[in-house]
Parts: sequence; structure tokens; C-alpha cells
Amino acid sequence: MLAISANTQAGEDLIDALNKAKMMEVSPTGKDILSRLLENADIAREENIPMCQDTGMAVVFVEMGQDVHLVGGTLKEAVDEGVRQGYADGYLRKSVCHPFTRKNTGDNTPAVLHLELTGGDRFKITVAPKGFGAENMSRVTMLPPSAGLEGVKDFVVQRVKAAGPNPCPPTVVGVGIGGTFEEVAMMAKKALLRPLGSQNSDPEANRLEKELLSEINRLGIGPQGLGGHVTSLAVHINFMPTHIASYPVAVNMQCHASRHKSAEL
Ligand code: SF4
Repeated sequence: MLAISANTQAGEDLIDALNKAKMMEVSPTGKDILSRLLENADIAREENIPMCQDTGMAVVFVEMGQDVHLVGGTLKEAVDEGVRQGYADGYLRKSVCHPFTRKNTGDNTPAVLHLELTGGDRFKITVAPKGFGAENMSRVTMLPPSAGLEGVKDFVVQRVKAAGPNPCPPTVVGVGIGGTFEEVAMMAKKALLRPLGSQNSDPEANRLEKELLSEINRLGIGPQGLGGHVTSLAVHINFMPTHIASYPVAVNMQCHASRHKSAEL
């Protein structure tokens, strides 16, 4: 069910962000595109049809308490079965293929599963269908420490500039800073799950998010890349300490169909 609702029911935070973007946009074409995106989200919600034809690869985040005990099969099997059923029942496009033969797996599995062990007996699952117009525009880099924060900012802004219209703007820009090669990408992806319009709990990261968003929105790419002020709806940053010899940075691009739905057991 989460696979279907994530694809068909835009979150209130996304609707609010698109409405705010429409008010801020100066280009008439950009304004018109934002109106159409809002209309598209309304139709998708009312008719229970996907917001976009690319219903994505299912990225699934599970936060599972250490006291939870699963019976009757593995978590991976259960997640894949849920994705299989959701994509079949919701008539969602199956977009997953073997990397060598490019043969479609036929049921949109396997899902990408990220498991985080937490305390207690809580089980939270989030399904985030990821379209690859935006995913293809994402990048990881290992900057030298001498690049400094200026180098980090430059990498993020230049990535959005190079992506241009390809990730279907207005985008959400997930940024990871620090950690290791794999962790920085994970931080960038998880940053996309934060509600739009929320503030970063770290004051320095919060300031950096605003600075980056304002620089990005001066690029002039605009809604759907046809020019305008609103290239991105938000920049979200996650960070952690890193090795003294490196400055890892990741940018995970998310399109205007910024989709994710959660449930807690
Ligand atoms: S990038 Fe997003 S909006 Fe664009 S085609 Fe893919 S899923 Fe759809």
C-alpha cells in the first residue's frame, strides 16, 4: 500500500512548497508550470494514479527496534513481496532491470533496502520511489580537505547547474557532507526524507542550506528547466565527522515528484 500511496498521494509539505514556489516565481512560464504540477498532484490524488509515469525504483528505509522479532521469513523477502504486490495492484510502471542483460525483472523488485537498528520495539517503514531522471544527476566526490567549505558549496551548486533540466526541476537537493564514500551518499539520500519547509536542527547546517538554496535559485534554470527563479524547492543537509585526509560530499537530486510514505507498527 505504501508503494501505491507514495506514488499517488503527494505529501502536504510538497504541495505547500509548490504553492510557495508559485508565489515566488517571477517567470510567467515558470508560474504556469508550477500551476500544472499542482494540478497534476491533485488529479493523481483524486484518481489514485501516479504523479509521474516513472514510478521509480523502490528505496525502502526500515528503522527496527532491537526488541522486534520477525517470524515467517526475512525482512528482505517481506519488503520485496510488498513492492511486488504494490506495483502490480497499483498498475505502477515496472522499471527495474538486470544490469548486464537490461532484461526487466517484471515486478519492480528487488527493492533497495536500508535497515537501521534502533532501541525498543518500534518498527517504522518508509517507501521512497526514486525516479532516475533525478537519480542519474546525483554525484559523490571525495574533495581534498584544502577545498574547504567553499569547495563543498561550489560542488553542490555546480552539480545542480550541470544537471540543468534533467532532474525535472524544481528539485529537492539532498546533500551529505563527511563520513566515508558510502556513508556520504546515504546521508544525501536520507536528507530527501526530511519534510519540506522544516529547519535543520544544526544552526550552521541550517545557514548553509539557505545560502546554497539562494545560490541555486540564482542559476536561472527554473521550473522544468525553462527559465525562472525556482530551480529548487529546498536544500537538505546531513553531515558527520570525516577522516582528516578527506572531504566527502554527495548530492542526491530529487525531482518535483518528491515521493515518500511511512508507516509505523
Ligand atoms: S525525474 Fe521525477 S518527475 Fe522526472 S520523469 Fe523521473 S520521476 Fe518523473
